[in-house]
Amino acid sequence: MSPVQTLVVKIGTSSLTGGGTGQFALSTLAALVETLCTLRQQGHQVVLVSSGAVGIGCRRLQLNDRPKTLAMKQAVAAVGQGRLMRIYDDLFSALNQPIAQVLLTRSDLAQRSRYVNSYRTFRQLLQLGVIPIVNENDTVAVEELKFGDNDTLSALVASLIGAQWLFLLTDVDRLYSADPRSNPGAKPIISIDRQADIQALKAVAGGQGSAWGTGGMLTKLEAAQIATTAGVRTVITDGRQPQNVVKALAGEAVGTQFAP
Ligand code: GLU
Repeated sequence: MSPVQTLVVKIGTSSLTGGGTGQFALSTLAALVETLCTLRQQGHQVVLVSSGAVGIGCRRLQLNDRPKTLAMKQAVAAVGQGRLMRIYDDLFSALNQPIAQVLLTRSDLAQRSRYVNSYRTFRQLLQLGVIPIVNENDTVAVEELKFGDNDTLSALVASLIGAQWLFLLTDVDRLYSADPRSNPGAKPIISIDRQADIQALKAVAGGQGSAWGTGGMLTKLEAAQIATTAGVRTVITDGRQPQNVVKALAGEAVGTQFAP
């Protein structure tokens, strides 16, 4: 394996706001920023895909419920995205790490000229040693042109830039054969080497009585499918332990790993 790896790390709203309250989980964020800076110092190329615009926008506007209409969601995301980038810039600046905001819609990756252009921009940013921070361009994306969730977006970005690794940070340490909170016999799933096994897990995650009791596992498995098909090793692991990313690169069996 080449000593310099390109990796995409995706963090969701619930990990970075401590349960989706819109209040920043500062210690998690600081640990994530420190980890990504360590990886940069080791020479790796790093892209962060971060959700949070809608959750943080809701808190800023003192809205208690997630917006229901598209216009409201887009307006709230426009408020939250700036605050999200501000906190990242403060934390990364403390470690002298330049960052960039990249907002994408599905059509940016569906049309060839825009796809090629997005690819060139990412390559240039990575060559400059910048950490691009990606989110969906919620403010302009119309329903039929949305990625829908950042798990899918992160898999498509990993494939676009030819990353070796995709890390999906979530609120469980790895996948289990059943919900470990209610089923003491649940077995941890350490690695998955075949597409057929991802498909089988999707059936469990999507069916009634979801295997993990946490939302979003189905989109993570779909993201793992997209990424591994594009040759990207994918890891689902705990967002509160961002150091797991460094451990996985060193060959430790953290999280659930999907081989390409
Ligand atoms: N783009 C949305 C946001 O920043 C999040 C999408 C997702 O939850 O995956 O709030």
